[in-house]
Amino acid sequence: IGGHAKPQAGPMKPAGVQRILAVGSGKGGVGKSTVASNLAVALARRGRKVGLLDADIYGPSQPRMMGASGRPASPDGKTIEPLHAHGVTLMSIGFLLEDDKAVIWRGPMLMGTLQQMLGQVNWGELDVLIVDLPPGTGDVQLTLCTKAELSGAIVVSTPQDVALLDARKAMDMFKTLKTPVLGLIENMSFFTCPDCGGEHHIFGHGGVTSEAKDMGLPLLGALPIDLETRLAGDSGTPVAAGDGMMAQAYARIAEGLVK
Ligand code: ADP
Repeated sequence: IGGHAKPQAGPMKPAGVQRILAVGSGKGGVGKSTVASNLAVALARRGRKVGLLDADIYGPSQPRMMGASGRPASPDGKTIEPLHAHGVTLMSIGFLLEDDKAVIWRGPMLMGTLQQMLGQVNWGELDVLIVDLPPGTGDVQLTLCTKAELSGAIVVSTPQDVALLDARKAMDMFKTLKTPVLGLIENMSFFTCPDCGGEHHIFGHGGVTSEAKDMGLPLLGALPIDLETRLAGDSGTPVAAGDGMMAQAYARIAEGLVK
């Protein structure tokens, strides 16, 4: 994969892909990639054909979260074979980069690579392609929103003020670029103490709910701070692949997205 793809004219969508959904956030570390992988797995478990494109060039976490590694093959030297994990067709910019190397790319190279990841990967027939965006409102988001035919975006935030402030900017960017925001997901919403059973609002309370209300957008879900979610992500088997409460929570959000 190189940086010399010909720019495409007009927004594009791979031929067999029904719709592309972007998962964005204002800030890093709020759980955007965790939500993206779990929604992908939850949708796949509900019988949907799902792809996950990890476009977070500065911190591609999907190889680890989905437990997939290796270099995608390109038997014909033109198209790229994606990997598969937990029923999801997967492509990550992380498969193409060396570990521990910083990404220092200029805009055109970035754009070329992104367009190749969309247009030259053999995505096959997909009901939905989920794109895990980098945090914030930079070049990658701009490229994808203008070059790819996105059906919509989901914005992930914690209830913390600083996260919400940036989430608002992300929503404003989607609005400016005419990508419909389907709703917000509040992650790390609360913590249930395993000892006393009390609910603790570590990052604040109700922030994303009131933000969603102010913006006239649906709150698609509120997910707790959950040890199993973190451990599952680190181990390469997203919590949505299991049968616990979090798997059910993700299944409910996934259902709302495709109904
Ligand atoms: P982002 O994509 O927004 O940078 P990540 O999805 O990489 O964030 O999540 C950052 C860290 O927080 C990861 O270690 C992840 O496992 C953890 N994490 C995400 N959501 C939760 C949650 N609801 N409960 C506990 N840990 C979480």
